[in-house]
Amino acid sequence: MIKYGGTEPSPPLAETIVDLDAIAHNTRLLAAQTNATMLAVVKANAFGHGVQAVTRTVLDAGAQWLGVTSRAEALELRDVGITAPILSWLHAPDEDFAPVITADVDLSAASVDHLVGIAASARRIGIPANVHLKADTGLSRGGATDRNWPELVSQARSLEQAGLIRVRGVWSHLANAEQPDHPSVAGQIHEFKRALTFARATGLSPEVTHLANSAALIGVPEAHFDLVRAGIALYGPEPMTDRTVGLRATMTLRSRVILTKRVPAGTGVSYGHDYTTSHETTLVLVSIGFADGVPRCAGSRAEVWIRGRRCPIAGRIAMDQFVADVGDLPVRTGDEVLVFGTGERGEPTVTEWAGWAGTNPHEILTGIGARVSRRYLPVRSGQTTERERVNA
Ligand SMILES: *Cc1c(COP(=O)(O)O)cnc(C)c1O
Repeated sequence: MIKYGGTEPSPPLAETIVDLDAIAHNTRLLAAQTNATMLAVVKANAFGHGVQAVTRTVLDAGAQWLGVTSRAEALELRDVGITAPILSWLHAPDEDFAPVITADVDLSAASVDHLVGIAASARRIGIPANVHLKADTGLSRGGATDRNWPELVSQARSLEQAGLIRVRGVWSHLANAEQPDHPSVAGQIHEFKRALTFARATGLSPEVTHLANSAALIGVPEAHFDLVRAGIALYGPEPMTDRTVGLRATMTLRSRVILTKRVPAGTGVSYGHDYTTSHETTLVLVSIGFADGVPRCAGSRAEVWIRGRRCPIAGRIAMDQFVADVGDLPVRTGDEVLVFGTGERGEPTVTEWAGWAGTNPHEILTGIGARVSRRYLPVRSGQTTERERVNA
């Protein structure tokens, strides 16, 4: 009988190590920066870290709400028994909202069409939907503009009086929170307060108002309101351009050397021969590529950590592999290659990779491919968690 799939467990060719203790630390650190309640943003598989393990960790460490973008993400959390309040915020108006309303998931609404769609599902199942009305206060992405806000609010009030929805929240999102002095920050806070005043004058009484993302949580206290939505900062990268608050890196991406070769000076390397060796050197083949989330465009600048040293990537990153030039380092097949890690030993960080790729750390973290296996380091700190206190 032919058996497919290995019988001998061998180390994976590429894996991420997710440090749940660092995520717990970051959650506590961020929660301590505010009197507001923390909503942990766990969209996109918790920024690539694995949504279930991360969700349990952030809830134990003090987050009370969860934020996702889609019905599927919200229902996955309910399916594994998560009972914390969840807000889901990106939907087409004609989706079937019945399953998420039944599962007690709050929904964002940014247009009358969305309200009508949500109310139709609610009427069908006889359960009122919890809605957060989203104002566009200047990002010009989601949300209702100043011009459309009065209609959205009055429709919401009518549907609330009809028992089809409950306006539980009013919210918005900032465009430049990582630069607190940017004039748009104060402008958006002002617009948000105006939108809130109008909503209250129309008879709505939202239980939670929220505007801040990670950067505003750290740098714009006036934007905290009732809930702060922490995303990227939970996962380690410092969101502010001008200061750090002591967040810990949460993800290591590593692979292995699967081939080494000694080559003479003048050897062209990888597709297009973009890289040519300047002297005799050792090239090593690493089994991870752009399909696994190593950004191809970073090839000419990026470095990796091998045997305690930074080594340049030589030539183009391919779909499944890249070559590094290790010079005269005694690198052997099987040696570990850190693509990025905590930075403590000198290895590159995810923020450096983002710089090399001309993007933000969010895109690097969420871009880790499906072939990369994920391993978790448990929460190990002796700190008493909220849950432990409650259960004591
Ligand atoms: C992704 C997202 C966040 C989290 O933002 P960070 O900058 O990662 O903290 C907050 N709010 C909304 C609406 C989002 O889409």
